[in-house]
Amino acid sequence: MGGEKEETSSKPAFDVGAASELVGKLRGAFASGKTRSYQWRESQLKGLLKMTEEHEQEIADALHSDLAKPELESYIYEAAMLKNSCRLALKELKRWMVPEKAKTSLTTFPSSAEIVPEPLGVVLIISAWNYPYLLSLDPVVGAIAAGNALVLKPSEIAPATSSLLAKLMGEYLDTSCIRVVEGAVPETTALLEQKWDKIFYTGNGKIGRIIMAAAAKHLTPVALELGGKSPVVVDSGIDLKVSCRRIIAGKWGCNNGQACISPDYVITTREHAPKVVDALKQELEKFYGKNPLESKDLSRIVNSNHFFRLSKLLDDDKVSGKVVHGGEKDQSKLRIAPTLLLDVPRDALIMQEEIFGPLLPILTVDKIEDSFDVINSGMKPLAAYLFTNNKKLREEFVMSVSAGGLVVNDTTVHLAILSLPFGGVGESGIGAYHGKFSFDAFSHKKAVVYRGFMGDAAIRYPPYTKMKLRLLKALITGNFFAIIRAIFGLSKD
Ligand code: NAD
Repeated sequence: MGGEKEETSSKPAFDVGAASELVGKLRGAFASGKTRSYQWRESQLKGLLKMTEEHEQEIADALHSDLAKPELESYIYEAAMLKNSCRLALKELKRWMVPEKAKTSLTTFPSSAEIVPEPLGVVLIISAWNYPYLLSLDPVVGAIAAGNALVLKPSEIAPATSSLLAKLMGEYLDTSCIRVVEGAVPETTALLEQKWDKIFYTGNGKIGRIIMAAAAKHLTPVALELGGKSPVVVDSGIDLKVSCRRIIAGKWGCNNGQACISPDYVITTREHAPKVVDALKQELEKFYGKNPLESKDLSRIVNSNHFFRLSKLLDDDKVSGKVVHGGEKDQSKLRIAPTLLLDVPRDALIMQEEIFGPLLPILTVDKIEDSFDVINSGMKPLAAYLFTNNKKLREEFVMSVSAGGLVVNDTTVHLAILSLPFGGVGESGIGAYHGKFSFDAFSHKKAVVYRGFMGDAAIRYPPYTKMKLRLLKALITGNFFAIIRAIFGLSKD
């Protein structure tokens, strides 16, 4: 089996020594050249696909145990999306691996050049608890496709999925090159002490800083897939019913708001707000019934720490009178109902941090155009959404709002388009992945120039003369007439 476990009575802790030994073994395996071949990459991607196909029910059960995630969400957003990533990589891998021809310049004539993608080496992937199957394995697809050896450290906050990953990856993948280390802060810290060729981290920005500081010691590149407060701007003159259904699908229909690109807050005009609230209420009741705490179609809050964190946001004096829908909680079952808060002040606690749960504040502005200033006055979000029929507003949104990704007239769907890069900007992250971008995230683009022994121009060698300088200047500008002038000694300088 591929999983190293946290300390138990029979097994020693995974400490710095164990981490160093593990990395040493993986370095040896990588150095053997095994992971570089197309055949190895293909076989491992097929292994991941087969593993997901053959254990769909176990995956759904683990996600239910960790989050009470509805089976449909487990299937669509975790198993099916992972399978799509594997299938795309298998289909495109040969093309991705082909070196890309590059243009050469007159100064190196005659020559040819290409960009050769090469694996980085041995990489570390640290993932989060909210989509614990997909977010663990989606980067693994990219790392394998690019030909790396790797360690995956799943989140301890989703323990059932973490141990399932350790078990299944040990059975389906080549454990001489692909390993799972289960555990929490001590195990991750031991891993972070090691020198990696890339660290790919998914989680919050506070830990992201710890990851980046650890990586800096070894000059290791990082990808940080972080979060943020993703806004939804709701204009008037739109199909409000469809819009609200799509907001609900992206918020409560994505792990009950515990998703990195879930709508975090809504901005609409003061005039339009009551209509938005009514439409959201109506659709919420249709989807989750009159007692949403009992709904099987909503995930629970992952653990009591997060339950209390969210309760604190609701208990803040600044928002206590602002709840216009929901607000019910069941601490024993870790459930919080979909909750709408209207006219939340910008300095309320709920507007200071990413909510990552079923609470949706609605901010109001005088004019819809003012929404973009509200967004731009905060940290750059991972996603931003706009519902409108107004072309000018849409253009202004695309030009003026900086976020990891934007969607107009829907939420979260950009995640499923594998031809788009997925990642943040500023505080919402560094680097991107999905599809070919995943291959690129784990590859080094090596510049290679090929020359023969012909055309060995004397002008690059000493003794340096005025004529050589003139000719080189002309060659560098690439101006044909300047070159002719230089050759015939007609240049001014
Ligand atoms: P988490 O608590 O599972 O932590 C993420 C990882 O960091 C885990 O593997 C954990 O073991 C490790 N970790 C925790 N403390 C550590 C420490 N002190 N040192 C080293 N490693 C440590 O997940 P989380 O951070 O609660 O995840 C939620 C956050 O992640 C949200 O901000 C969300 O927006 C973001 N997120 C982003 C994406 C994305 O793709 N951009 C996806 C999912 C979640």
